[in-house]
Amino acid sequence: NVRVRFAPSPTGPLHIGGVRTALFNYLFAKKHNGTFILRIEDTDQNRYVEGAEQYIIDALNWCNMPFDEGPNKNEKFGPYRQSERKHLYKKYADELIASGNAYYAFDTAEALDFHRKDHEAKGKTFIYNWHNRLKLSNSLSLSAEEVKAKIEAGDDYVIRFKSPQDKTLHLKDIIRGDIKIDTNILDDKVLFKSDGMPTYHLANIVDDHLMEISHVIRGEEWLPSLALHYQLYKAFGWQTPEFAHLPLILKPTGKGKLSKRDGDKLGFPVFPLQWTDPKTNEISRGYKEDGYFPEAMVNFLAFLGWNPGTEQEIFSLNELIEAFDLKKVNKSGARFDPDKTKWFNHHYMQEQSNDGLAELFLPIINEKLNVVQSESEESHLEISRQAQNNNHIDVNYVAMVIGLIKERATFVSDFWALSHFFFRAPTAYDEKASKKAFKDGTKAILEEVITIVNNIEDFTVENLQTEIKGWITNSEIGFGSVMMPLRLALVGALQGPDVFDIIFMVGKAETLKRIENVIS
Ligand code: GLU
Repeated sequence: NVRVRFAPSPTGPLHIGGVRTALFNYLFAKKHNGTFILRIEDTDQNRYVEGAEQYIIDALNWCNMPFDEGPNKNEKFGPYRQSERKHLYKKYADELIASGNAYYAFDTAEALDFHRKDHEAKGKTFIYNWHNRLKLSNSLSLSAEEVKAKIEAGDDYVIRFKSPQDKTLHLKDIIRGDIKIDTNILDDKVLFKSDGMPTYHLANIVDDHLMEISHVIRGEEWLPSLALHYQLYKAFGWQTPEFAHLPLILKPTGKGKLSKRDGDKLGFPVFPLQWTDPKTNEISRGYKEDGYFPEAMVNFLAFLGWNPGTEQEIFSLNELIEAFDLKKVNKSGARFDPDKTKWFNHHYMQEQSNDGLAELFLPIINEKLNVVQSESEESHLEISRQAQNNNHIDVNYVAMVIGLIKERATFVSDFWALSHFFFRAPTAYDEKASKKAFKDGTKAILEEVITIVNNIEDFTVENLQTEIKGWITNSEIGFGSVMMPLRLALVGALQGPDVFDIIFMVGKAETLKRIENVIS
């Protein structure tokens, strides 16, 4: 019975590393008909950030990986926010004290600081474990009366795990294999504080146990905590779940961990959704708002540390579920490649329906046309016959345009530059292109084109092609001498899709007008 959890702390927006962890948990759960759980680890109230929890949920939903159990959803093992489980943890800390696996410590921050510096001065590292315990202020170095008196006097305390001396721990990780740890290097980690709150370690282990988590899949930064977590399971006498620590995500250069700041520096988002910092109002870019499709995001995230062992790179979410295997996750860091994310988006762009894309493009068209309109006194909007319908742009026309241009687009925001001439006449002619396209005799050629276009009754792409190409072949003018100036007249530059498609789309009257414009 596979039960996995994604357990973020709501200390800000999830970055792509967090979403990758969520994705691998999701894929593993779905692959094994298991349950994907969201648990909010908000025991550290100082780091709590307003809106972060909702952001996490929105991000999971946008990526199409909703949780099965979590806050306000199938609360079988609820509550799923650790702050609401606060009352639960003390009893477990007490249990560890009773069994001799934990102890009270009263050291002040100043005292600990002193010992740290003192060690440093001697070139040593201070470790709070059997090396130093008896020199410090805790229930192992004080008498039972002293301990009782301190607690009753309301002195601040913490409860620490009592890490054993001279032992070798054998840990297992699905991705990393067997790991050996010498307990002499381990600190007696704090499990509970006198403010009534557990630390991450205690809350995490207690909740994983109570929520019957079978596999813990999380980032490599938690690997150093694994030894403690193993010992906690053992101290409680609980069954240890299986662990998988996912590799780091590295900067595009491959050197160093990808940080939240790298995105701004290098010009790509590191967050799934746009985030407004509630304190500073600073806005961080999101993949969604930058025009990425969630399918693309999921696909590129899957490849950060995993690959199917074949050449296949394009995977739908369902195909990922099918192919996913924790054993195929790499140990070494995964380099983040922003160009590859674009490559994926370009791919998924081709799979979107033109109608759906048209809905996204329409507001942009309206905005652009309004800007053009307000820039000039007399409107030079030359929206084609299909498009202009009481000043309303026909969504079917837009969808047809998209069908002609999307092959060259990565984002919806690329559409306008690739298609503006379908919606209005060129406002200028590219200078270089004009020089190239216009020769002596071009005017006469275009006048001939006007006659031919004008005479076509049944205005179809095929008829346009047959008539114009036929005429070019018969008169031996050369394709370039006709097609280049014609394209320039229609587009304003020597770019764009097939000229006959453009002529057909903008319509006869508009085509004639544009040719007349360029030769007048
Ligand atoms: N709350 C931890 C985090 O923010 C969870 C670590 C874990 O999955 O055990 O990443």
